Amino acid sequence: MSKKTLIIGAGGVGNVVAFKCAMNAETFGDITLASRTISKCNTISDNILERTGIKIMTAQVDADSIPELISLIQSSAADIVINVALPYQDLTIMDACIACQVDYLDTANYEHPDEAKFEYKEQWARDQHFRDAEIMGLLGSGFDPGVTNVFCAYAQKHYFDEIHTIDILDCNAGDHGYPFATNFNPEINLREVSAKGRYWQKNDAGEGEWIETEPMEIKQVWDYPEIGPKDSYLLYHEEMESLVKHIKGLQRIRFFMTFGESYLTHMKCLENVGMLGIEEVEHKGQKIIPMEFLATLLPDPASLGARTKGKTNIGIFAKGIKEGKERTIYIYQISDHEKCYAEVLSQGVSYTTGVPAMIGAKLMLEGKWQSKGVYNMEEFDPDPFMEELNSQGLPWKVMELGADENREVTL
Ligand code: NDP
Repeated sequence: MSKKTLIIGAGGVGNVVAFKCAMNAETFGDITLASRTISKCNTISDNILERTGIKIMTAQVDADSIPELISLIQSSAADIVINVALPYQDLTIMDACIACQVDYLDTANYEHPDEAKFEYKEQWARDQHFRDAEIMGLLGSGFDPGVTNVFCAYAQKHYFDEIHTIDILDCNAGDHGYPFATNFNPEINLREVSAKGRYWQKNDAGEGEWIETEPMEIKQVWDYPEIGPKDSYLLYHEEMESLVKHIKGLQRIRFFMTFGESYLTHMKCLENVGMLGIEEVEHKGQKIIPMEFLATLLPDPASLGARTKGKTNIGIFAKGIKEGKERTIYIYQISDHEKCYAEVLSQGVSYTTGVPAMIGAKLMLEGKWQSKGVYNMEEFDPDPFMEELNSQGLPWKVMELGADENREVTL
C-alpha cells in the first residue's frame, strides 16, 4: 500500500524537503505539507506541481498545539512526520507522534523559546515512550547535525580503528548581496552564533570535559577544498553532544564555522544595541522581543535563493589510528548555491539541510534504518545514507592526508 508522508514547516528547508520527497514519490507516496501559514504551503505545492508534475496536499497547523497536531496526523494517516518547523516545536511534535504511534524525524534539537540553549536531554528522555509506542524517532537529520554525524560514523567504520580528534568544518562561501542576512531562520541562527563557544576534550585523568569559550573567541584559518582559506570560528554545535557518546577513542571534538568581517561587525553592533535580546521589552505600550522584531526586518531566508552565488563546503577533519598507524582524512561535500536554486528554488543552506532530511525519512520508510526508540544519526549503518547522498544531489569526497598534514593554515 502507498505510504503517506506529513511534512511540518514551510520555510526554506520545508520547501526542499517537499520538493525532494515529491521527486522520490515512489517511496513517500501521498505527501502533505502543513505549516502555520498555509499560503506558504500552497506556493510550494504549486511550484512542485509545475516542476515535477506531482500534486502534494497542504494544511494549516499550529505545531505548538498537541491536539491540533494529533488531529492533523490522524487525518493525513501519516506513516512518518518530518519536522522542519522550528526547534521550539520538537517536543510537541514528538508527543503527538507518540500519541498517534507514528515515526518522527527532525533536523535540529529542542530549544526553549525563552532560553538560548539547545541540548538533547528532553528528546532523549522520550526514548522509552517511543519504544513503548513501537515507533522510531531520528534526531538531527540535516547537514550539521546530520550528514556530519554520518561522516563520523563512516570514518569510524571504514577508515579508523580509533578516531582521536574530529574538527567539524562548516564553510559557506555564498554571497547573497545583502549587507546582512541569515541563511536559515534568523532567530535560530543568531541565537546559535551569539552564544558562548564550547568544545569537548579528555583531561589528563582521561575524563571528557566541556571547555567553554567566549563567543567567537577562537579563530582559525582552514583551507577548504575548491574554496580556499577562510576565517573559521569555534562554536558549540549540537552534534558534538551525541558524537562524544558514540565515537570510539575520541580525545577531542570541535566545531568551526566561517564568518565574514561584515557579518561579524553587523552582529556585534546588533548585540551592542540589544537587538539580539530574547526577553520582552515594552515599546509604546506593547511588549516585543527584540530578536523576534529583528527577524521580521531581515530578509526571509527562503527569498535568498535567487540571489545567492558561490559554494558551501562542509566536512569532518578526523585524525586517528588504523592498524597501528596514524591516519588523517577530510570527508567533505561541496554544494553550489545556484545549482541548488536551479533544481528546487532554494539556496544551498536550505538544500543541504532538506536533502538529508528526505534521505533519513526514505531510509526509515524503506526499513533500512529502523528500530524502536529515539536515535541520533551515527547510531545507524552509514553506508546506505552515504550512497543516497551521492544519488540525491549531495556527492561527497574523502581526502586522505599525510599524518602530519593539516588543513588548518597560518596566513
Ligand atoms: P524558516 O523560518 O524558513 O521556516 C520555519 C517554518 O516553520 C516556517 O514556515 C514557519 O511558519 C513554520 N513554523 C514556525 N512555527 C510554527 C508553528 N508553531 N506551527 C507551524 N509551523 C510553524 O526556517 P528554516 O526552514 O530555515 O529552518 C527549518 C528548521 O531547520 C529549523 O529547525 C532549523 O533550525 C533547521 N536547520 C537545520 C540545519 C541542519 O543542518 N541540521 C541547518 C539549517 C536549519 P511561518 O511561515 O508562518 O513563519
